[in-house]
Amino acid sequence: MTTTAYERLVAKLKRVHYLGTVAGLLGWDEQVNLPPDSADQRAEQLALLAELQHAAAADPEIGTLLAELAPASAVEAKSNTMGYTFPQDADRGVVVREARRDYERVVKLPASFVTEKARHSSAAYHAWAAAKEHSDFSAFAPFLQKHLDLARQEAAFLGWGDRAYDYAIDKHDPGLTAAKLTELFGELQVGLVPLVGAIAASSVRAKAGVFKNFPVHAQRDFLREVTEKLGFNYRRGRIDVSLHPFCEGSGADIRMTTRFDADNPLDSLFSSIHETGHGLYEQGLPLAAQGTPLGQNAGMGVHESQSRLWENQVSRSPAFWRFFEPRFRQKFPAQLAAVSSADLYLAVNEVAPTLIRVDSDEVHYNLHILLRFELERRLFSGELSVADLPAAWNALSEKLLGLTPTSDRVGVLQDVHWSGGAFGYFPSYCLGNMIAAQLWFTVRKVYPELDADFEKGDFSRLLGWLRTHIHEQGRRYEALELVRRVTGEELTPKYLLRYLQERYAPLYLQ
Ligand code: ZN
Repeated sequence: MTTTAYERLVAKLKRVHYLGTVAGLLGWDEQVNLPPDSADQRAEQLALLAELQHAAAADPEIGTLLAELAPASAVEAKSNTMGYTFPQDADRGVVVREARRDYERVVKLPASFVTEKARHSSAAYHAWAAAKEHSDFSAFAPFLQKHLDLARQEAAFLGWGDRAYDYAIDKHDPGLTAAKLTELFGELQVGLVPLVGAIAASSVRAKAGVFKNFPVHAQRDFLREVTEKLGFNYRRGRIDVSLHPFCEGSGADIRMTTRFDADNPLDSLFSSIHETGHGLYEQGLPLAAQGTPLGQNAGMGVHESQSRLWENQVSRSPAFWRFFEPRFRQKFPAQLAAVSSADLYLAVNEVAPTLIRVDSDEVHYNLHILLRFELERRLFSGELSVADLPAAWNALSEKLLGLTPTSDRVGVLQDVHWSGGAFGYFPSYCLGNMIAAQLWFTVRKVYPELDADFEKGDFSRLLGWLRTHIHEQGRRYEALELVRRVTGEELTPKYLLRYLQERYAPLYLQ
């Protein structure tokens, strides 16, 4: 029996994918289990796997097979036109189109450039950590400048010319551009400012210090019950503890992590639910297509929409708490004895500005992203120099959040992303919030009974809808096209604004 060119291509793609999953597992293990003196050995293992994976992804036979399956010019022309389907076999068309996108990204970058960027990222990470510790941006500035230069070079290698920031955005969310984000974020900002101002002027405040001494084992039991009810399949995944929560893996093996604090049970609960949203997406990608683009996620923005929808729209809702509050109290009767239902619900939906993005509530969160997007855009256009970045950060922070950082540590140095050269990544968070809200209003039109489901602890109808419309699509559509098809409308911030208004006005503005 002879194998066809398509089958040979798929076999090659699976090889790349499975090497990636091994590296992912080693990375997970590094965060969760690694003995303190084993880091050097792990670094060697990961470097070897990265080399093997790169070689597999750059295999010239992939190029030959792609050329055979679809001539370059035809694929390029079609890949820019969303909604295109290959008449004979739509699935194969998607796999070839996306495999070609990946292949070009790999082969157009010289090996020397890849090595230089990896080496610089490692050095820049350590420089950032030290600069953050001493709250001294100037020590990190040359590393950031070099990352910007590398990002421009990378865009040039890939044929994006002087649109380096668009390239950085497209890397995380194919099809999105700085111009499109400027339009979406601008509209969002106009709607957010009055809501933020009104909440700031409100006398309603969540009570501080109401949560004390929640035993970790009971927290673990409770979040297991919650995440299982939401639909996470623990026969194809697990949850462990790490310093920073994350979700790793795909297909039949998803590794999530969380962290515990006896005096902050909601942090652990909500970060676990967030990672569960990521995990549900990965578990819902079609297993039969694993290793091909049809078995892969549609980019960071869509991924984040899944985590945010479960974390915010679902799990901060009154219906969710009507089911889970009695269970929460059963687990922690003494700790919650003096906490009223109203106080508990207000704590779940606490709104208060903070300098730190990762500590932010969902009303202010998008402002943190708007700030970073604006600064990245100005850095790439040349309007802003690296040396002037801290001052620009502080000014925007004052303008958007009403707070001026007292040091670089809680300002421009707070996030790890730029130390790895990950420009264009922050917008995905805000994009995810907008997509989540738009999906939320769409699915509630389809199933008006979702609240009644949640009150019974049944989330299967919502999950089923997400499975069909988002998860099972893999990389068939770019984010904007996916949203258009599923919701019948262009992506717009108006649903996020409406959701925030409907959730927070009754709590803070009555
Ligand atoms: Zn996330």
